[in-house]
Amino acid sequence: MGRLSMPVVWSDTCLLHEAGGEVWIGRPIPGDELPERAVRIREALVAAGATVVEAHEQPDDALLAVHDERLLAFLRDAWSDWQAAGYPAAHGQGRIVPYIFAHLGLVGALEPMLPASPAARTGLFAFDTMTPIGPGTWPAARAAVDCALTACELVLAGAPAAYACARPPGHHVTRSAYGGSCYLNNAAIAAAHLRAAGWMRVAIVDIDAHHGNGAESIFRSCGDVLTASVHVDPATGWFPHFLVAGSDDAVANLNVPLAPHTGDEGWLAGVLRAAEEVASFDADAMVVALGVDAAAADPESPLAVSRDGFAEAGRRLGGLRLPTVVVQEGGYDLAAIGGLVLAALEGIEEGMG
Ligand SMILES: [Zn+2]
Repeated sequence: MGRLSMPVVWSDTCLLHEAGGEVWIGRPIPGDELPERAVRIREALVAAGATVVEAHEQPDDALLAVHDERLLAFLRDAWSDWQAAGYPAAHGQGRIVPYIFAHLGLVGALEPMLPASPAARTGLFAFDTMTPIGPGTWPAARAAVDCALTACELVLAGAPAAYACARPPGHHVTRSAYGGSCYLNNAAIAAAHLRAAGWMRVAIVDIDAHHGNGAESIFRSCGDVLTASVHVDPATGWFPHFLVAGSDDAVANLNVPLAPHTGDEGWLAGVLRAAEEVASFDADAMVVALGVDAAAADPESPLAVSRDGFAEAGRRLGGLRLPTVVVQEGGYDLAAIGGLVLAALEGIEEGMG
């Protein structure tokens, strides 16, 4: 096994977010977006000879290019507002979870007010009950952005590729709403930054098992950021459920929805389609939203991709020979996650030649 050359960007602060479980169909469940995910990935990459680079603190410009200011202010202040309102002390609730949502059927075309009650305010920004906020959530989510932007810096300075070993993940977050265990859209922020830094055409290729709805929504009317996503078809009953592939009016977007149980062959055909789309888009740079939850043993998806499949996906994307920022998304099999990410990153380097 060759030494992994691409720098691995890391911040200990990413470990501070502990969801403390999730609420699914009204029931508390343990949840599996754990700090240990990042630790396991880092261990595997360091064992393969990777160099770890500390993330630098990065300015807010790229966040503001991607997210609504109100979402950012909410996430930044949510925990202190929750504490000040007494929910932990009075109700024993140490995590912020919505109980009412600004559903389109409730507010219609009206701009909803910012609720006075912190408990209600959450429902203006959260779209599920699976994404709790605790005391470490904002610092960790912000540090994940720092990792993604530091990886951009390295690539802008000439590294062929750099990897942000970051969590919590980000690819479900839209301009103004968070969910799906994601708080800030790290990959979209990276793409916006590369675009602002002067690369005229940037592609985001999302190979997480779930639809990269966030970037698609954020860049829907933007002709110079291509979003491509290979994922289990939400129409077959999988997260994020509501958006039907092909119904979107995004100007530069490709969705490759796959049937449950799709294995290497079908999934790699999807990755190849995404790679061809990036090539015909004539991208100057690429962000890979690298989820490894399409793996056969992953508890969060019904896809059946092997470790060799991730290596081959990496080779196909690396073969585009574009300056590449890789941002970690999902992947929940702690025993396998490090090896899967390593396989994908080694594949990218092999593909780059
Ligand atoms: Zn996923």
